[in-house]
Amino acid sequence: MTKKRMETLLFDAKNEGSIEAVANILKNGGLAAIPTETVYGLAANAFDAEACANIFKAKGRPGDNPLIVHICNMEMLSDIVEEVPEGAKKLAEKYWPGPLTMIMKKSEKIPDVTSAGLPSVAVRFPSHPVARAIIEKSKLPLAAPSANLSGSPSPTTFEHCVHDLMGRVDAIIDGGASSVGVESTIISFAGEKPVLLRPGYVTLEQLREELGEVEVSHAVLEKLEEGEKVLSPGMKYKHYAPKAKVTLIKADSEEYIKYVNEHAGEGVFALCFDEEAEKLNVSTVCYGSEFSDAQQAEHIFDALRKIDESGAERVFAHSPKATGIGLAVYNRLIRAAGFDVIEL
Ligand code: AMP
Ligand code: MG
Repeated sequence: MTKKRMETLLFDAKNEGSIEAVANILKNGGLAAIPTETVYGLAANAFDAEACANIFKAKGRPGDNPLIVHICNMEMLSDIVEEVPEGAKKLAEKYWPGPLTMIMKKSEKIPDVTSAGLPSVAVRFPSHPVARAIIEKSKLPLAAPSANLSGSPSPTTFEHCVHDLMGRVDAIIDGGASSVGVESTIISFAGEKPVLLRPGYVTLEQLREELGEVEVSHAVLEKLEEGEKVLSPGMKYKHYAPKAKVTLIKADSEEYIKYVNEHAGEGVFALCFDEEAEKLNVSTVCYGSEFSDAQQAEHIFDALRKIDESGAERVFAHSPKATGIGLAVYNRLIRAAGFDVIEL
């Protein structure tokens, strides 16, 4: 079956009237890709079951993978969740607006399709001025997963969204490149103890500093068993898989360079740190400095898209350190590698 293509309006947030136009599209039940500080999101009215169902269709997203609801002030929260746990209040105080998503018991106003049938809902208060302005103008909480086709790297630029969603959504608005570059940290308050479901720019170390104990879902670092039930449904899907076969190499720089040069050949690429490129005898795509986990996060998804465009067949990716923001980068890369890791 071929899906009917629709007209996609393109906007630039710098142009007058563009925020209002996008807000109107959302108020009328439409879909719009909007910039946030983490990655671009594909937004719809979170209270509108039909609009949210259309998000799943446009992305080709499995129906059991719930959406994150975006707000622009704390008052909006009371319509979305049943109650706000103490831990969530503490984190909101410190990290909202910002790249942190919190899962709480959902209110009846949130349709089942939005939460993929779960009794809980994921909420985030983004800091990006364009995202906030659109939520404010529309006066709606916006359900917005990443604005990519399901399975492809998350979009960190307007161009990535156009590549994936042109003809599938009502609007895409350009607000520049996302500065964080990886999706939000997700912490769940739906159970007895807080659990980190997805690492991001707000680090596990920072969460523990505020809350004391925070468990880490094993899906963060490990491959799930076939059919395993998980707290964060998104973690079970193959993510960000480039067309090439990717292997993650855990080694220091010298060992990594030696290994890759020994395996040089046609179609072989290195996904490496900036400092390593000139010492490698294969084609390279860099994803930031070895010494900056924030830079690595900012560039990782664009680097994965570049790898795809380059026609690479075999990719040796240098593993980031899995601490701080590096844990988020590692979590995305190990999925891109289909959990194929070599430790030297
Ligand atoms: P995305 O917006 O594409 O970054 O994906 C949203 C992520 O949030 C997915 O991995 C979901 O599994 C996770 N998520 C959203 N709502 C919930 C929820 N109620 N419980 C657990 N995980 C959730
Ligand atoms: Mg996503």
